[in-house]
Amino acid sequence: MPTIHAEDPHQEIRDAVRALCADFPDAYFRTLDEQRGYPEAFVDALTKAGWLAALIPADYGGSGLGLVEASIIMEEINRSGGNSGACHGQMYNMGTLLRHGSAEQKQRYLPKIASGELRLQSMAVTEPTTGSDTTKLKTRAVRKGDRYVVSGQKVWISRIQHSDLMILLARTTPADEVKKRSEGLSIFLVDVREALGKGMDIRPIPNMVNHETNEVFFEELEIPAENLIGEEGKGFRYILDGLNAERTLIAAECIGDGYWFVDRATRYANERIVFDRPIGRNQGVQFPIAESHIELKAADLMRFRAAELFDARQPCGAEANMAKYLAAKASWEAANACLQTHGGFGFATEYDVERKFRETRLYQVAPISSNLILSYVAEHVLGLPKSY
Ligand SMILES: Cc1cc2nc3c(=O)[nH]c(=O)nc-3n(C[C@H](O)[C@H](O)[C@H](O)COP(=O)(O)OP(=O)(O)OC[C@H]3O[C@@H](n4cnc5c(N)ncnc54)[C@H](O)[C@@H]3O)c2cc1C
Repeated sequence: MPTIHAEDPHQEIRDAVRALCADFPDAYFRTLDEQRGYPEAFVDALTKAGWLAALIPADYGGSGLGLVEASIIMEEINRSGGNSGACHGQMYNMGTLLRHGSAEQKQRYLPKIASGELRLQSMAVTEPTTGSDTTKLKTRAVRKGDRYVVSGQKVWISRIQHSDLMILLARTTPADEVKKRSEGLSIFLVDVREALGKGMDIRPIPNMVNHETNEVFFEELEIPAENLIGEEGKGFRYILDGLNAERTLIAAECIGDGYWFVDRATRYANERIVFDRPIGRNQGVQFPIAESHIELKAADLMRFRAAELFDARQPCGAEANMAKYLAAKASWEAANACLQTHGGFGFATEYDVERKFRETRLYQVAPISSNLILSYVAEHVLGLPKSY
């Protein structure tokens, strides 16, 4: 029988993250949004408190928590009005290293990632000409003696300017020399500090949200062969292994956003008096907020289901994808309800609704678009023919 808790068994984590976030109120994120600045002080505080090292085992200096707890940390950041997008990579990108790196690589990097001395916040997969069709990516890494030489291009690679290390997916065997296109791709750890200006250049992409993301150009970038993670040619499988954790964490962020929208909408609907009564007395105002709350609660159950399966080392691809789909949709519906409830004031930056509205919209597109999740469920859960 599954355990049913009357009280939230994770209240302690929630309270501690909320207390930290309280030092970074709306105005902090609002000002950074205007300046397109990085929340350095906030990320530092999270790092010092150990929250971003939640998934790193204690042997390597992390707290060795599960995905359930890690997802609560991300949820609480977004629920407090912040945006985990600035730092979630530090929590999960190291998973590839942890699962597939050599003992020496793990010993060398994980303790420093856990302490925050090294930031591994970037993962470079997407390319401009192939997009969601990942296995067609064209960036090549060719072995030459004790190095790999990388040439190609990536796009939308986030947080490079706030990373020391980056995970790179590149093709090591040409596609026409492998049986399946998912073979012949490999994962590398790139030292951003050494690579910039020496074969790797970046061009920031101004975008709708305060999210540092870049085009990346590789021209004969040399990477020491020892920076290959795991076996050459198996990189695509390694990336897939990490996606369930990433999707579940992002589902939790959406849920945090969603609860923020519902809280703000409820508060405003109770306070705002028009026609001599609170606007929240009108069903036309209260129903969309109630509906959002219901949909968030449902998505939240799927997020916990995915996280619990992940922590129990059970297959969770379907649940992680469905959680991400449901949560991204629910947070977007909640964003719309919140904006509508605020009327004109929803558009004023000082209410923060328009900022969070823009931020949460991203998650139906990245890190995987909702259509691709539907394709996954159609094919892998329902057994329908592959559609692409
Ligand atoms: C702010 C931001 C940050 C990002 N950060 C990173 C990062 O750090 N690292 C990284 O590697 N990538 C990153 N990405 C890239 C992101 O993962 C991709 O944008 C996303 O996977 C979609 O790929 P695409 O943009 O190439 O869209 P495309 O693949 O061109 O798709 C465009 C549209 O067509 C739809 N579509 C395409 N094919 C099909 C199909 N077969 N069936 C149905 N619909 C289809 C898609 O759903 C989408 O809506 C980021 C993107 C953004 C916007």
